[in-house]
Amino acid sequence: MKIDIISPGTYTYGSLVLGGVLRERGHTVTVTTNLHSQGEATLMSLFSTMQLLDERIRDFVSAHENVYIGGPVGLCPEMVLGELDAKAVVTGEGEEIVADLVEKGPAGLPGVAYRENGMIMKNPSLSIQSLDHVLPIIPDDLKRQNVRGANVYIETHRGCLGSCTFCQVPRFFGRSIRSRSIENIVAEVREMKRQGVSRVAISGGTGSLFGYRNEINKEAFVQMLKSLSEILGKRNLSVPDMRVDMLDEAVLQAVRDYTIGWVFFGLESGSDAMLRAMRKAVTVKDNLRAVQLARSMGVKVGGSFIVGYPGETREDFEKTMRFAEEAMLDDVFVSIAEPIPKTPLAAQMIELSPEDLALNQEHRGEFRALKLSEAEARCFELMLHAQSCKPIPRAISNDQYDAYLNEARCQGRDIKRVIQLLQKYKEYVPA
Ligand code: SF4
Repeated sequence: MKIDIISPGTYTYGSLVLGGVLRERGHTVTVTTNLHSQGEATLMSLFSTMQLLDERIRDFVSAHENVYIGGPVGLCPEMVLGELDAKAVVTGEGEEIVADLVEKGPAGLPGVAYRENGMIMKNPSLSIQSLDHVLPIIPDDLKRQNVRGANVYIETHRGCLGSCTFCQVPRFFGRSIRSRSIENIVAEVREMKRQGVSRVAISGGTGSLFGYRNEINKEAFVQMLKSLSEILGKRNLSVPDMRVDMLDEAVLQAVRDYTIGWVFFGLESGSDAMLRAMRKAVTVKDNLRAVQLARSMGVKVGGSFIVGYPGETREDFEKTMRFAEEAMLDDVFVSIAEPIPKTPLAAQMIELSPEDLALNQEHRGEFRALKLSEAEARCFELMLHAQSCKPIPRAISNDQYDAYLNEARCQGRDIKRVIQLLQKYKEYVPA
């Protein structure tokens, strides 16, 4: 069968892996980032709620038969099938069922949802035990893709021990850790390198959970980085995301010696009250200690923050601003709290009155002339502030100012649209 896999805009790792699984089964598979298909079946990998609102994606799915949707959006299949005229949705991990799905259709298959006689049928998902898989499809233009500096993000393990309220990872992959074998990862990266893919990042909540068995398996983590670094060179390997309570000197030393030497911490807030509300299970002190430890080991630190979280007061936000000053991060990402279906945050946000969300409150402070919501203003202000708190502070250019302002406005606009969509499927959004 001729099958097209579409990963709109960016090649997701999952789309490449599913391509490899279908190819192994004897199908002729193309993986593309373009909304174009001439196959007998089309799989589409969607990772963001916003993609369900993309008119080009909606039109494409309406115009084609046999379109199957997979990826993190599949956690809320009622919403996907309500918005897209797709044949079925893969609701969890797809490797073991995707071939049967395109060959025989969804009826009776585990881990899929589909319409039958106007009703949505949902079959319970499977959790895959061994994550080792056949070589993924490596499209010719993957070597030119640039996602935060890497050609591709690969997966070394699934699951997260954390319970952060805003995050889909433990809901999609579970809270126990399943890891690939180093041999399987090495074979994949070697093949990528052979096909011209030079810069690889390791994805998945917390990189140091690779090989986890009741405790961090430092030997496995270090060995995995060392092996990949020997193939790619340390300047081409990164392991960005790390929980602040899942690392020590040995982990950071490996990051320094075998990768580009950066970590990104989900710091989220400088207020302990907010960290508790987000169920981060760490304190502001833990965050600061991790930043300082990484720096003392010669590792550069990026951090991400969430603003406009339900209940965040101006005082909480001021604490975050002060934390940014003290931490002096090398890079900062700021996000307005986004409700992702099946997370506790989404369940909370759709129950709140609109006026209780900072996204709907008019900002009356320093930036009132810009006509921002309070959430957008905090996002903008923290981005500006963090820039001036870097170890080597830089003056903000006009272009940068405009880019930050635009980013804050875009986030605000998109998240408002997401909330409206979630309201439409209110009964299906909670876990
Ligand atoms: S935010 Fe990070 S630490 Fe928290 S649950 Fe998600 S992946 Fe785990």
